[in-house]
Amino acid sequence: MAELSTNIQYIKGVGEVRAKAMAKLGITTLRDLICFFPRAYEDRTVIKPISMLIPDETVCVRAMAATAPRLSHIRKGLDLVKLKAVDEGGVLDITFFNQSFVRDAIKQGESYVFYGKVTGSRRHPEMLNPVFELESAHHLTGRIIPVYRLTAGLSQNIMANAVRQGLDASVDMMPDYLPAHVRESYQLAQAGYAYENIHFPADCEALEISRRRLIFEELFIISAAMGVLRKSRSVRRGRSLKQADLREFYQLLPFQLTGAQIRSIEQSTGDMLKNTPMNRLVQGDVGSGKTAVAAACCWYAWKSGCQSAFMAPTEILAEQHYRTLSQLLEPVGMRVGLLTGSMTQKQKKSVHSQLRLGELDVVIGTHALLSEGVEFFELALVITDEQHRFGVNQRSALLSKGDSPHVLVMSATPIPRTLALIIYGDLDVSIIDELPPGRQKIATYTVSEKLRERTYKFIRKLVGEERQVYVVCPMVEESETADEDLKSALAYAEKLRKEIFPDLKVALVHGRMKPKEKEAVMSAFSAGETDILVATTVIEVGVDVPNAALMVVENADRFGLSQLHQLRGRVGRGKHQSYCILFEGAGGEISRERLKIMCETNDGFRISEEDLKLRGPGDFFGSRQHGLPELRIANLASDMDVLTKAQAAAQELLRSDPGLLSPENALLKDRIDELYQLKASTMN
Ligand code: ADP
Ligand code: MG
Repeated sequence: MAELSTNIQYIKGVGEVRAKAMAKLGITTLRDLICFFPRAYEDRTVIKPISMLIPDETVCVRAMAATAPRLSHIRKGLDLVKLKAVDEGGVLDITFFNQSFVRDAIKQGESYVFYGKVTGSRRHPEMLNPVFELESAHHLTGRIIPVYRLTAGLSQNIMANAVRQGLDASVDMMPDYLPAHVRESYQLAQAGYAYENIHFPADCEALEISRRRLIFEELFIISAAMGVLRKSRSVRRGRSLKQADLREFYQLLPFQLTGAQIRSIEQSTGDMLKNTPMNRLVQGDVGSGKTAVAAACCWYAWKSGCQSAFMAPTEILAEQHYRTLSQLLEPVGMRVGLLTGSMTQKQKKSVHSQLRLGELDVVIGTHALLSEGVEFFELALVITDEQHRFGVNQRSALLSKGDSPHVLVMSATPIPRTLALIIYGDLDVSIIDELPPGRQKIATYTVSEKLRERTYKFIRKLVGEERQVYVVCPMVEESETADEDLKSALAYAEKLRKEIFPDLKVALVHGRMKPKEKEAVMSAFSAGETDILVATTVIEVGVDVPNAALMVVENADRFGLSQLHQLRGRVGRGKHQSYCILFEGAGGEISRERLKIMCETNDGFRISEEDLKLRGPGDFFGSRQHGLPELRIANLASDMDVLTKAQAAAQELLRSDPGLLSPENALLKDRIDELYQLKASTMN
């Protein structure tokens, strides 16, 4: 018997070299190995008589080797082994390429099971390179076989054997995190059974039962964890702010707030009056005016003599918020500061000391805010913009700078409800479901290369009307991975500048520029000094230049729909009719079909649901979504019904045992603590 934390290196048949390879798949302990679920299965249970074989199907055949296998060297590097196998009704020709060992492995007159794809014709069926074993063996055929994700140095056999060993060593001690009564009321299999059958299913039904149990468990643990978080928050005491008259703030704004903005502001400030810390998500589509809500909350904290910290994912965005908030709030005497990684040591030191001494009321910054020297005099409010760009850990690092501060997170990613339950299960939510008045639908077109000249003409026309234009290229930050056909932003900007628009002002911004240079380019564009801004996706989030009226996206097929929606959201932020032109790229028909949804709707919510359907939740968040617990088996798009049940079960359980203190919930509690490192002081 081995501990679940045992290093896999010590599991029979693994050893140092394979352990290294497995580590690349994230497998280092026995528990990891057992929880490394197959990505697919091969159903080798169907056995057919030879006379019934149909070309292209993949099945098992039970047959006798009628001839001795014959080995022939065709040329260097190509050996063939051929034999004929027979059953009562037919003859099957079998060929193995470059597997000369088969000559000795298969004996004339013995019966085998062959598993493989049928080729040839109905009358003369053949199989190439089938899997085979003695009829009596029953290891490789006659059952459902797991298919694992692999990496160099591993094969399906190695993986399956390792998992087999791992299961044998531990299956009886696999802890069952589901309390027995939950398992009973939802008719779920036991953990041991589920782990065995998810890897080596006895049959299809056993597989289904096991999958359901493990999906349920995964979603149940997340739901219970979210419930515990919510609970731990409500017993914590925060700093309750003094009531202030919001009308004073409203008068500072150059525009009238929408009803949805006012509602969000009232909900958030209402939270801050209470002595449990606010933990609220403001979700609103691109351009819905979330920044004003953030500004209102900072103002509110200031009225109580407290400081606020406002964190943005990019320097471009932090600087933009700094400009907006200082313009808005400095006139009433609020002191607004900026802290980013690219500032000089001296500048940073000065901001640090102002924060510590309470000489700043609001600080806006990037994750530079998390660094060690940052201390506050009286931090009452922490805001993160585009929160999906930050991990849970980053958020909590900022929180620990204050004493249970109020928390506001803002996101433009209109996530479907299922996902919201998982990610934001512990947050209250305000939704800005209304755009500022006068916004027009952004006219969107998917076009092919043929329309390039016309697009250039159109750019020229808009610039003639004093509008500004973005051109976005999908150059990934590491351009080694960029394909040839991918227009490198550099070369492309050069071409636009020299050949196409020599008379216009074309600028370029990309991720590998120095922050200072980026800032200079962005503020020039923002001030209207540049006509065309060629950019990579660094401008994807948050950038706000209301005079920009056209977004051109090159190779649009390279982007996810939600990302395109974000990019498109850079225009249509003012009163001008705005446009989005998507060059469909090399993707052809499929990408055109996918991009169609962009032309049909401006509704971020619909787009994200389509996106989820098309790509699945893993992709949906891409590598950026760090805040999410990794799902090993559940698929949020298709396992919705299990999610609902798992949530109901978790809620029920927490109602009867809010602290998970009863002995039968102890395992669950440990698991949650372990997964979420719930330390009441830092977690939120
Ligand atoms: P997002 O929700 O994408 O962060 P912003 O806060 O950047 O949106 O606001 C988008 C633009 O709309 C900004 O230029 C902002 O000044 C403007 N804006 C915000 N609220 C209103 C409003 N109620 N009326 C008019 N313009 C508004
Ligand atoms: Mg924003």
